[in-house]
Amino acid sequence: MSLIVQKFGGSSVADAERIRRVAGIITDTYKDGNDVIVVVSAQGDTTDDLIEKAHEINAKPSKREMDMLLTTGEQASAALLAMAIEALGFPVTSLNAWQVGITSDSKYSNARIKTISDERLRRELDQHKIIICAGFQGINKFDDITTLGRGGSDTTAVAIAATLRADLCQIFTDVDGVYTADPRKAPNAKKLNEITYDEMLELASLGAQVLCNRSVELAKKYRVNLEVCSSFKRVPGTIVKEDVKVEKMLITGVAKDNNVTRISVIGLDDIPGVAFKLFSLLGQNNINVDIILQSIGRHGTKDISFTVASDNTQTALDILHECYPDNTITHDDNVSKVSVVGSGMQSNAGVAAKMFEALYSVGVNIQMISTSEIKISVLIDRNDSDKALVAIHDAFI
Ligand code: ASP
Ligand code: MG
Repeated sequence: MSLIVQKFGGSSVADAERIRRVAGIITDTYKDGNDVIVVVSAQGDTTDDLIEKAHEINAKPSKREMDMLLTTGEQASAALLAMAIEALGFPVTSLNAWQVGITSDSKYSNARIKTISDERLRRELDQHKIIICAGFQGINKFDDITTLGRGGSDTTAVAIAATLRADLCQIFTDVDGVYTADPRKAPNAKKLNEITYDEMLELASLGAQVLCNRSVELAKKYRVNLEVCSSFKRVPGTIVKEDVKVEKMLITGVAKDNNVTRISVIGLDDIPGVAFKLFSLLGQNNINVDIILQSIGRHGTKDISFTVASDNTQTALDILHECYPDNTITHDDNVSKVSVVGSGMQSNAGVAAKMFEALYSVGVNIQMISTSEIKISVLIDRNDSDKALVAIHDAFI
């Protein structure tokens, strides 16, 4: 007998028919003799709809009240799913964060889980009940309800799996696994049987949008066996784990990120401490910088370019204009970051050359480049991003 945590995303429980289908998956797992804890997201677009509703009432609602509102979505879907399982004649109970005992820090709208009590969960499991937990929520030190950031139900599921040392944590979604690229963009994309935590982390942060980033971090930290699978097709999904088979591919995936802006500060003094000052300033204002490019100094001056997430663009520009009134500051929103990810590239030369060749073959100009041990990213014109993605994907895979 195993303990299995199953998480179902919003699209998997969007309507009554889908809830019944999910109830079938859960009860089949239970009938196989497993203990089952389920974590569920709000139905369909409920979270977005609630956000819209809030803004009809108040343009700037407090984060505390937003969390109070948004957590209702998960409470509703947990109860509905429990009802569907009841109707099938199985013992089941739905639980909210406070009933389970999921505590979080106090950062409303983007809280982090601090502790999960196993007491209530164990007690329900001892009574052979299927447990349905509302995902995406926690309770802070003020006894207020918090949310864990968008996509946070994945994190709830992995955290519960880690706490109870579950044998497997299955993330059910509307795709049947992790692909080498977005199949809607790259028709030759293939499903991966396995991927490492590190590769998944890179792909998650690059906007592959299968798993939320923090859930992968947690899975890696606590060595949770993760599987990404489809709630619509009963086929094996993608396993996320520490090591994958030796004969693995050079490149695991290609991802595109449009949430990026390039900013350049022109004509900075070519002396020590200039980059330090610039990036400290951005850091103090909580602006994360990604790709950085500094030009060679000429006539005593140099230029520094970097990318930020698009939602930080205005803040970054305001700060820079204030602190560098004598410099020209330019920015470009119409860019994309395209990246190849794969732990195989650590021991293989020529990955960068092959990627650049693929870009050259479709006439795409590279504006910036950055590399890490398992990733190479290029910044390109956004209008070129789809053809670049396909060309790079098909060159490697
Ligand atoms: N319902 C929340 C969201 O849409 C949490 C989740 O789906 O994981 O972000
Ligand atoms: Mg959701």
